[in-house]
Amino acid sequence: MLAKKKLTRQLLNILSSEFVKTQQADIWSYGFDNSRRQALADYVVLPETAEQIAAIVTLCNQFKIPLIARGRGTGTTGATVPITGGIILSTERMNKIIRIKPEDRYMVVQPGVTNAEVQTAAAEHGFFWPPDPTSAAFCTIGGNLAYNSAGPRAVKYGTPRDNTLGLEVVTGQGKKMRCGVFTTKGVVGYDLTRLLIGSEGTLAIITEATLKLTPLADSKKTIKAIYRSIDSAAEAVASIMAQSTIPCSLEFMDKNALDMVRQYSDVDLPENAAAMLMIEVDGNAEHLEQMTRDIERASQNDGLASFSIARNQQEVKALWQTRKALSPSLRHVAPKKINEDVVVPVSNIPALINGLNNISRQHQIPIVNFGHAGNGNIHVNLLVQEKDAAAYQCLDDVFKLVLALDGTLSGEHGVGIDKLDFIANELDAEALSMMRSIKQCFDPNDILNPGKTIPRK
Ligand SMILES: Cc1cc2nc3c(=O)[nH]c(=O)nc-3n(C[C@H](O)[C@H](O)[C@H](O)COP(=O)(O)OP(=O)(O)OC[C@H]3O[C@@H](n4cnc5c(N)ncnc54)[C@H](O)[C@@H]3O)c2cc1C
Repeated sequence: MLAKKKLTRQLLNILSSEFVKTQQADIWSYGFDNSRRQALADYVVLPETAEQIAAIVTLCNQFKIPLIARGRGTGTTGATVPITGGIILSTERMNKIIRIKPEDRYMVVQPGVTNAEVQTAAAEHGFFWPPDPTSAAFCTIGGNLAYNSAGPRAVKYGTPRDNTLGLEVVTGQGKKMRCGVFTTKGVVGYDLTRLLIGSEGTLAIITEATLKLTPLADSKKTIKAIYRSIDSAAEAVASIMAQSTIPCSLEFMDKNALDMVRQYSDVDLPENAAAMLMIEVDGNAEHLEQMTRDIERASQNDGLASFSIARNQQEVKALWQTRKALSPSLRHVAPKKINEDVVVPVSNIPALINGLNNISRQHQIPIVNFGHAGNGNIHVNLLVQEKDAAAYQCLDDVFKLVLALDGTLSGEHGVGIDKLDFIANELDAEALSMMRSIKQCFDPNDILNPGKTIPRK
C-alpha cells in the first residue's frame, strides 16, 4: 500500500494528474484487445515525450512493476493485455507527424499516429507507406511496428521491417536510444531496427519512427478469378508468384469462405466455385494492360472457371468489402473462433489447404481459410464454440502441419499470449536461448510486457 502511494506520487512528478489514471473504471477500458482477453492494470499513463517515457521506465525498474505499451488495442494475440497488472502506457497523445521529406522518401512520426493518418499525409506528396492492415483506420504505427503488421500489399511492397529506416526508442533500462538511418542504404553496426520491429513491446518502447515512403502507382486493376477446385486455385497462386509481374495483392478464399460471402454480399459467385483469388496489379497505365495479361496467363489451368476484371470503382469496392468483412462476420457464426495467420512457402499452399481439410474432418471442427496467398499467409479460422481441450488439440495439429511444410506460426498477428505455448515447436533451443539473452540485455528486470512473446523457460 505504502509502495503504491509512493509510486503514484512519483508518477505525478512526471505527468499531471489528468494523464495518470488510477480509477478502476478508467483503467478497465485499457485492459483488452481483439483477442477478447481483458485484465485490470494498476495505472494507465499517457505520456507525451520520450523523456517522460524514460522516466516512467526508470520508475518501473525501481518498483519492479510491469509496463505495457498500448496503441489502440486492436492486436489479436493479447499482447497489450496486462495479465500481471502494472502500468499501461498509452501512446494516444504521441500522435504527431513530425516531418515529411518527399525528396528523401521518408517521414518521421510519433508512435500514436494511426496508419490511416500516415497514408493521408504521405498521399499529399504522391507517396504511401506500404503496410496496410485492415484495421488501418484505427491502429497505430507503434502497434504496426511492434507486431510487424502488414496486409495485402506486403506481397509486392513488404512489411514494416522492409519499410522502416530507423527508430527512436526507450529501452527496458530506461535509456533513450536511436537506431537505423535516414537514408535508403546503411550498414553500420547490427540491425537493431529490424530486431525491435516485431518485438511486441518486450524490448523497448518506440517513441519515434522514420518510415520509408514509396511512390503511389498511377493506376491499378482488380481481378476476380474463380476456380472449380481448391488445388487449381492454389496452383495458380504458385504460378503467379513464379513469374515476373508481381501483383500488389493476391488474396485467396476457400469454399467455406465463399459460402460466407454468399450470405451477406451480392458478389457474383457461380455455384461450382470452390475457391476465389482476388488479384490486383498496379503501375504505370501504359504497362498495366501487359501486366494484366501476364497475370491472366499465369492464372490459367484446368480448374479456372472464370477470370474477370472489375469494370468500375463500385465493383472494386464491393470485392474489397467482401474480403475485409470476412473475419468479423465469422464471429457471428462462432464468437469464440480461433483465428490463426500461418505462413507456408507459396508452393506448399495446396498441401496446406488439403491438410487443413483433413484436420477439419478428423476433429469435426469447421475451418474457414482465406488470406494473403501471395505471401503464403493464410488466415486459418477454427469455428469452435468453446476454446476447450478439443479445440487446442485441433490447433496443435494445424501448427504441426504448418511446421512440417516449412512454414511459420504467424505472418503478422504475432505471438502475444495466445501462441506462447507453441513457440518452442518452431524455434530451436539455441535460438530461444539467444532471444532470452537479448531480452535480458534490453530489459534486465523483465519490466516491459512480461509474459509475452518469448516463453520464459
Ligand atoms: C478488424 C481488424 C482487422 C485487422 N487486420 C489486420 C491485418 O490485416 N493485418 C495485420 O497484421 N493485423 C491486423 N489486425 C491486428 C491489429 O490491428 C494490428 O496488429 C495492429 O498493428 C495493432 O495496432 P494497435 O495500435 O492496435 O496496437 P496494440 O494492439 O495496442 O499493440 C500491439 C502490440 O504493440 C505493442 N506496442 C504498441 N505501441 C508500442 C510502442 N510505441 N512501442 C513498443 N511497443 C508498442 C503493444 O505492447 C503490443 O505488443 C486487425 C485487427 C482488427 C481488429
